[in-house]
Order: sequence, then structure tokens, then C-alpha cells
Amino acid sequence: RSLPVDPSEDHAPRAVPGACFARVRPTPLSDPRLVAMSPPAMALLGLEAEREAEAEREAEAAMYFSGNRLLPGSEPAAHCYCGHQFGSFAGQLGDGAAMYLGEVLGPSGARWELQLKGAGITPFSRQADGRKVLRSSIREFLCSEAMFHLGIPTTRAGTCVTSDSEVVRDIFYDGNPKKERCTVVLRIAPTFIRFGSFEIFKPPDEYTGRKGPSVNRNDIRVQMLDYVIGTFYPEIQEAHADNSVQRNAAFFKEITKRTARLVAEWQCVGFCHGVLNTDNMSIVGLTIDYGPFGFMDRYDPEHICNGSDNTGRYAYNKQPEICKWNLGKLAEALVPELPLEISELILEEEYDAEFEKHYLQKMRKKLGLIQLELEEDSKLVSELLETMHLTGGDFTNIFHLLSSFSVDTDPSRLEDFLGKLMSQCASVEELRVAFKPQMDPRQLSMMLMLAQSNPQLFALIGTKANINKELERIEQFSKLQQLTAADLLSRNKRHWTEWLEKYRARLHKEVESISDVDAWNTERVKVMNSSNPKYILRNYIAQNAIEAAENGDFSEVRNVLKLLENPFQETEESSETDTKEEEATAAAAACAQATRSRLPYCSKPPLWASELCVT
Ligand code: AMP
Ligand code: MG
Ligand code: MG
Repeated sequence: RSLPVDPSEDHAPRAVPGACFARVRPTPLSDPRLVAMSPPAMALLGLEAEREAEAEREAEAAMYFSGNRLLPGSEPAAHCYCGHQFGSFAGQLGDGAAMYLGEVLGPSGARWELQLKGAGITPFSRQADGRKVLRSSIREFLCSEAMFHLGIPTTRAGTCVTSDSEVVRDIFYDGNPKKERCTVVLRIAPTFIRFGSFEIFKPPDEYTGRKGPSVNRNDIRVQMLDYVIGTFYPEIQEAHADNSVQRNAAFFKEITKRTARLVAEWQCVGFCHGVLNTDNMSIVGLTIDYGPFGFMDRYDPEHICNGSDNTGRYAYNKQPEICKWNLGKLAEALVPELPLEISELILEEEYDAEFEKHYLQKMRKKLGLIQLELEEDSKLVSELLETMHLTGGDFTNIFHLLSSFSVDTDPSRLEDFLGKLMSQCASVEELRVAFKPQMDPRQLSMMLMLAQSNPQLFALIGTKANINKELERIEQFSKLQQLTAADLLSRNKRHWTEWLEKYRARLHKEVESISDVDAWNTERVKVMNSSNPKYILRNYIAQNAIEAAENGDFSEVRNVLKLLENPFQETEESSETDTKEEEATAAAAACAQATRSRLPYCSKPPLWASELCVT
């Protein structure tokens, strides 16, 4: 249901009572041009896309996918939703920068919704400008496609189009506001409906801020639920056509399980979403709304990828419980169509179990445990992560290395393997950068005084976690002053040798249970190499592509897109450099501060990348 379009309306932000979307129009951009296009995503729509098309065709694509021209049949609309942001109900939010264009029936018979993100203001833009800039758009474009090729449920991205229109954004890393290019991403998904889409139906007296629909609230909620289940969960609709509570319960159980599996997938590739508000949770279990996300480099369970997440609410190790909390908010929003007693029971019975099951299954594959499922496996995984943490190991590269660990006990092969592992652990320099104290010492001592005199206020402003982190950094940093590279190496070797003993013992149990060891080993390596990506979208890789694009060169965005279409495969580039890889990485780490010369895409980040802050 929407309000009629009123031509005198200037799309100024306003409440939209009785509606959950509003008709809108993209605001044209000046001189739009194509940064990149994803052929496999465009193919979903039946569009044949070339990686490097003729200038004329690229220009035409840019006209349509900037929103300057509308595809025939488009009926642009912005969706109104609410959300819990950082733990509190935020009232009405809605598509403030995104516009739905309509559905396309793809060649495979699937229906796809199209959305332009960054196409201008909508009634839900609030004080903001409805625009997105080149850096955030490139990150969303590349990551959407990267996640898909990693096999993780996600919204897709078809195109990224930039322009000469400009907006001002805060750039935190150089301290000055800077004009940036307005950029639009074409997003593609079965639906963009979120958990927050159902929170719009909360009674007005529960609103802290703006009001959602007050007219026909209950009718619209039922309609939306019927639409979501009937369209995206047709088996559930069919199985429970005559009992709506049972149907709604089955739907809630399914989204609970999908969400649990999705988070398990994230954990297994070290992906941090960064803003897990209920309005960024897909009703069909996709990764949605890529903002300050990050793939973890050095393993740190408390890693925070979002520079404005001061309390670490959305840290890596919090993601599973946060998504469960978000499902609890969805459950509240489904009352009375689904009584809370039923949904709470489902959440308790299904979520943790599904997460654990899926996580352990994935981790077994990552470790090449293909024959037996033993209870001890979960401990082996947590000890591996603990070892990575203690040695500052690179999450992606260490998993990727494990397939070349051999079960036999030849000491020289072990030494060789340990050498490779060591090159993926943090060096003294890297640790010094990572643990460099960040606060002004005078400011810190003032805050400590404040904390002592007024603990309540202190806890309220949420800086306690920050201060504790800073104190830890100070302690670590001072220890690091005495640490030599040789000490670090022997300590790391000790840790890894210990874990590898356990890993070998576990692999031996596999060997004992089979007759054909060679076939087992071949299969093991195959499974591991399709579960442990070699290439992920590290922040520094995205940053290099962004900086080139900001200077008008889109080739790096296109190269990275292509690379991430095969995250598990050696590219020619890397197999040539493979033998030199460790040396290259070590050399790069040594002089990385000075040079920005290109590393192989599988390298852990150079030192300069530790300065990157994404908000
Ligand atoms: P996010 O943090 O990206 O999930 O966005 C939270 C809310 O802010 C959503 O309602 C967005 O549509 C809105 N929003 C984000 N960026 C903009 C923007 N540039 N202009 C208008 N609204 C925005
Ligand atoms: Mg969002
Ligand atoms: Mg966003």
C-alpha cells in the first residue's frame, strides 16, 4: 500500500501513516559512468554482460543503472521499515537511499527484485542526502559478489556506477571533509524485506521517535506476513494452508535456522557484518546491507570491524548471540499472528543447536575431517583458534595452509610446514602496530578518575570497554618492547607444534578407519581446498581498488571482482608467485609502510593497512 504520488511533494522527509512504502523517483546524476559490472549477477536478469564492453554500451548501462533513465516497467518505491539499532528501538527508518524498481522474471524462472542504492532522497531519508559515495559502493559491490562466490547467502550486486555529482562526507582518516563522487549500486535479491519491516507494526505508543503506520496496522501486518510466507516460503504456506498459527510457527522456525546457518558461515570465513541492527537482517536469511563490514586478517575473537561500534556490540565473537537477539525482536513483532510463547520456545530449541551443528560441520571440512565425526572435534577447533589468537595468525591463510600439512611424521617436512605457518603469524612490527596505545595518556588518566568517582555515568557512556582495551594495549605494548623476533618465533613454534600434535593424532584416527589412504588424502585435500578460500576481500585490497577508482582508474575494481569469482582457486598470477609468496610477504611486511607496491592478493595485510578505519 502506498500513498498516491503528489507532484507538489518534494520528497522531503515525512512520516507515511498507513503505508509501508512510498512511490519515489531517482534523482539524476551528472555524467554517470560504469565502474564495473558483474556478468554472473546480470545473467540472473537475463542480461548478457561483457566484462569490458564497448564505450557506448557501457554508457548506456550507466544511464539505466544510475537511475537517470528508468527501465521500462519500473515503478520505483522506497520501503518503510523500523529497526533496533545498537540495542534500542530507533522508530521509523526505511529506505533512505535505496529505491526498489520492480521485479524481473529471470531466465531460470526465478523472480528478482531490483534496487538502486544511492539514487537520491526518499521520504525516509531523514536528515541525510540519499546518496552513497564511491568507496562505500565499491565495497558493497565487491563484497556482495565475493560472498556469493564463497557460497554464502547474500544479496547480489549487478553494477556500480559513479558520476560527477558530489556530496561531502567525513573522512576520518585524514581529518578533513572531502567531496566525494555520488555512486549507485544495482542490488539484486529475491526480496529486501527485513526483520525491521515487521517492526513498523508496533503500536504507536511503543514508538520512541517517528510513527509507523497507524491506519490498518493489523491488516497490513497480516498481508505482509502472507506475502512473505506465500512468496518466499511456498512449501510452508502449502503445508499449513489451513492453520495460520502453525504456518507462522513453521516460518519462524525456518528463518531461525537460516539465520543460525548464515552466521555460522560468516564465522567460518572470518566475516564481520559490522551493523547487525534488526533493519539489516534479511527475512529470507541473506547477508544484507554491506557497510563497515570486514574480513578478519589477524585472528582476534573480539575483532571490531566498524569504527563507530564503541562498545564492540557487533564484534566477531558476538555475532551469533546478536543475531539470536535480533530473532527475538522479530518474534515480538510477529505478535499476535504468532504468540510469543511459541516463538520463544522455537528460538530456544532451534537456534543454538542449528548454529553449533552447521559451524562444526563447516569447521570439520576446513580441517579435512571427512571420515569421522567425533565429539572431541569441537575442542580441536577451539584450540586451533586459541593458537591462532596467541600467535597472531592470519585467519584465512592459516586455514588455507592446513591442507598441505602431512599426516606422516617426517621431521624435515614438519619443519618446512612450521616455516610456512610462521610466515602467517604476526611479526613483532605488526604486533607493535596492532597494540599501539591509542588514547592521549592525559585523557586516559582523566577518564580513569571519572570512572572511579562516577562508575554509573561511566558505564552509561559505554567507554568502559574502551578503557579496558586501552589498558590492555598499554600492557601488551610495553611487553612488546622487550620482545625480540627470535623469542617470538620460538614461542610461536612451541604453540603450533603443540596443536599440530593434536591435529595429527586426530587425522590418524581417520586413517585407522579406512583402507585406501591415498584416496582419503586426495579427497581430504579437495574438501579442504573448497572450504578454505585463498582470496577474500581484505580491507587493504578493497582500499587499493577504491583509491585507483577515485583517481579515475576502474581496472583494479574489475580485477578484484574477477579474482573473487574464484576464491578457492589458484589464479595464474598466484601460482607463478607461489614459491616466492612467503618471501614476498615477509619482505612486504618489512618495508610495507613505505611502499604501496602490489602484493599477491593472498597476502596478509601490509602495515599501512592497519591505519584503515571503516565506519
Ligand atoms: P544503515 O546503517 O546503512 O543500515 O542505514 C540505517 C538507516 O539510515 C536506513 O534507514 C538507511 O536507509 C538510512 N540511510 C543510510 N544512509 C543514508 C543516506 N545517505 N541518505 C539517507 N538515508 C540513509
Ligand atoms: Mg541498512
Ligand atoms: Mg548502509
